[in-house]
Amino acid sequence: MAQTSDILIIGGGIAGLSAAAELSSHAKVTVLEAEEQVGFHSSGRSATMLHYFLGDRLVRELTLARRDFIENPPSGFNDAPLGHSMPVLIYAREDELQALDALESEITQFAEIDRLDANSVHELCPLLKHDATHGLVDRKGIRLDPHALLQGNLRQLRHSGGALVSGARVAAIARTSGLWEVTTEEGKTFSAPILVNAAGSWADKIAELAGVRPVGLQPLRRTIITFDAPHGTRLDALPFAKTIHDELYFAPESGRLFASPMDEVPSEPCDAQPDDYEVALAAWRMEERTTVKVEHIHSKWAGLRTFAPDKHPVVGFAPDAEGFFWLAGQGGFGLQTSPAMAAITASLIAGTPWPVAGLSPEELSPDRFR
Ligand SMILES: Cc1cc2nc3c(=O)[nH]c(=O)nc-3n(C[C@H](O)[C@H](O)[C@H](O)COP(=O)(O)OP(=O)(O)OC[C@H]3O[C@@H](n4cnc5c(N)ncnc54)[C@H](O)[C@@H]3O)c2cc1C
Repeated sequence: MAQTSDILIIGGGIAGLSAAAELSSHAKVTVLEAEEQVGFHSSGRSATMLHYFLGDRLVRELTLARRDFIENPPSGFNDAPLGHSMPVLIYAREDELQALDALESEITQFAEIDRLDANSVHELCPLLKHDATHGLVDRKGIRLDPHALLQGNLRQLRHSGGALVSGARVAAIARTSGLWEVTTEEGKTFSAPILVNAAGSWADKIAELAGVRPVGLQPLRRTIITFDAPHGTRLDALPFAKTIHDELYFAPESGRLFASPMDEVPSEPCDAQPDDYEVALAAWRMEERTTVKVEHIHSKWAGLRTFAPDKHPVVGFAPDAEGFFWLAGQGGFGLQTSPAMAAITASLIAGTPWPVAGLSPEELSPDRFR
């Protein structure tokens, strides 16, 4: 006998859980998550930043629209803060100045950005080599706490009577008599008139299971390493620091430093593992652009950032299947845009007000790939 809900959501990452939390005050919501714990894949492996240097105009609009949610979450959401302040520094060499100018002009409508000369760059981030001669800083960057975000959404879902079923890997999907009927590998069935596809890197696979045309998502692997900072480094004063081109970022991480070579290796959806080459590249780039010697890699991990062909998220009802809702393609900005994406999902499914004045539903709709 199928367990029935108004809305079934496949995926217990930040996308599925934030949408579930928003929708649960309007409908009976059940989230199906393949793993035993939430956030096991991309949502638990990110660089955990909120800033406006990520993505393009559309991503910035999404980030700005519900930034207040991160800074002042609704009461009862989570007792812990969802993040803390961390400046974000984008730095450039002399020959990269043009790219820095272009970025500055794209960003100024979204954030208060300060332009830095060589002295100020090194004052803010003394670990950089002397060829870092120009910088932009957003002093209101936020280092997110993904655990607090995931748990807050889960708490809100449960408080409104919704449920998370973990260890429930969806293996078959059929549409019968106006209902989506979803069967897990263990043979449990769940049904609902609306099915939200928030399966991250697997979202195209879920569409195929449901007989819905995929949108062409591409998971790209990214690697992070952690290592000791030089003795005496004031870690709490360091920014999240990134090269103007996508070569390297680093930031303080639990008493050490983390760094990524910003790799984008195409991958199948999977439990991504770090590859030796990108691990070595992270250490090499760190030594190339900073004065830090990476003597011992303390830990390393990889995660998938999953993009639609135009690198914009895909949110909305599928044009080719009644009641099938896409919530995918969050790329490298899915944590910081999750409050807006969840509010958009609630708007399109439950009819709440459209939350992002600077964007239209068409810009996000799966219809754009027809
Ligand atoms: C290295 C790295 C750095 C990043 N840095 C940032 C950053 O600084 N800021 C930011 O905002 N974002 C960042 N991101 C991006 C962000 O992590 C992702 O956009 C976001 O986590 C995507 O969330 P999701 O819920 O769509 O995917 P996921 O967290 O992967 O969740 C999808 C879930 O679906 C489940 N699932 C799949 N198939 C099935 C099935 N058949 N049945 C049931 N469940 C299924 C999976 O188990 C998974 O838990 C980064 C990502 C990486 C990898």
